[in-house]
Amino acid sequence: MAKQLDILVPFLNERESAIGFCALASGLATQARQRFGLETRFVLIDDGSTDDGGRLYEEHLQGTWTLVTLSRNFGKEAAILAGLDHSEADYVLMMDADLQHTAEVALDMIGRILADPELDMVYAVRADRAETQTLGRYLANGFYWLINMGQRYEIPANAGDFRIMSRRFAGAMRQLRDQRRFNKGLYAWTGFRQQRILYKPAERQGGTSKWSKRRLIAFSLEGFTSFSVVPLRMVSLFGGAVAVLGFLYGIKILLEVLFTGVAVPGYPSLIVAVLVLGGLNLALTGLVGEYVWSALSEAKNRPNYIVKSVSQSQKAAGVRQQ
Ligand code: UDP
Ligand code: MG
Repeated sequence: MAKQLDILVPFLNERESAIGFCALASGLATQARQRFGLETRFVLIDDGSTDDGGRLYEEHLQGTWTLVTLSRNFGKEAAILAGLDHSEADYVLMMDADLQHTAEVALDMIGRILADPELDMVYAVRADRAETQTLGRYLANGFYWLINMGQRYEIPANAGDFRIMSRRFAGAMRQLRDQRRFNKGLYAWTGFRQQRILYKPAERQGGTSKWSKRRLIAFSLEGFTSFSVVPLRMVSLFGGAVAVLGFLYGIKILLEVLFTGVAVPGYPSLIVAVLVLGGLNLALTGLVGEYVWSALSEAKNRPNYIVKSVSQSQKAAGVRQQ
């Protein structure tokens, strides 16, 4: 029997690129069959779109597909999990709906994972990122350095969700039901043998990126609090260091008063100490709060997403009934 390939595509308001994507998708499915003998099915996840993009896919997508519509926008990470839950193929490929992920790179990844049975994941890393040295890049590098500090696995920089995984890798991913999902971390945590390839994403075709600066910062914080204890440890160390310095300074003042009899004029040092320590205290309470909120989200144990409806192409429905 032919091996199965499921292609997961989460989308949110991608009406403008929907028709273009359908063309890319049918080309990709044909190539996958001709070159690798794979039977392809598309698993589209409508992550709470408010436009009618979903209907466009239903009308224009050639071949086998399943459309899972979520009850609202749950975020790309949860949408991908929904796709995994609705997939049972030998290989699962994930790609964006905005045509930034090209068929050539996808076919390259398919070829690699098929060629090596020991390989359970191939992921694409953005090659264009390394060239630009902006402030954002420095911050991102710092982020990866911190989050990977002292871990047994490494979260690679500049790798997103453009990946292909084996059935057993997909099964492992399905078991990870983190509420605050940070996919990059989950892929790394899962392990297995993974291979990276470099790619240059195409320009977005229509619509806008869903990632604002604010969302990126919030997402990084979520990543940290679910994958790293380093910030808390650094804070403890820093707090300890400040306390020791404060203590030494206190001894110095005491000795001065005892031996010279001069009381140190205190106002500036006092106000600096109060402001610095007060500010640090507030910031650190906030940081601890992030971890507490993370723990609370897990404790509530809500489902990661809610499915509103599932529809299938004729062919997919036929296969299911057998
Ligand atoms: N997306 C989604 N839910 C969201 C945000 C994004 O399903 O809450 C989809 C989006 O439609 C696209 C993919 O995730 O197919 C990548 O999003 P985007 O292009 O905005 O990210 P970027 O390419 O800018 O990193
Ligand atoms: Mg994009």
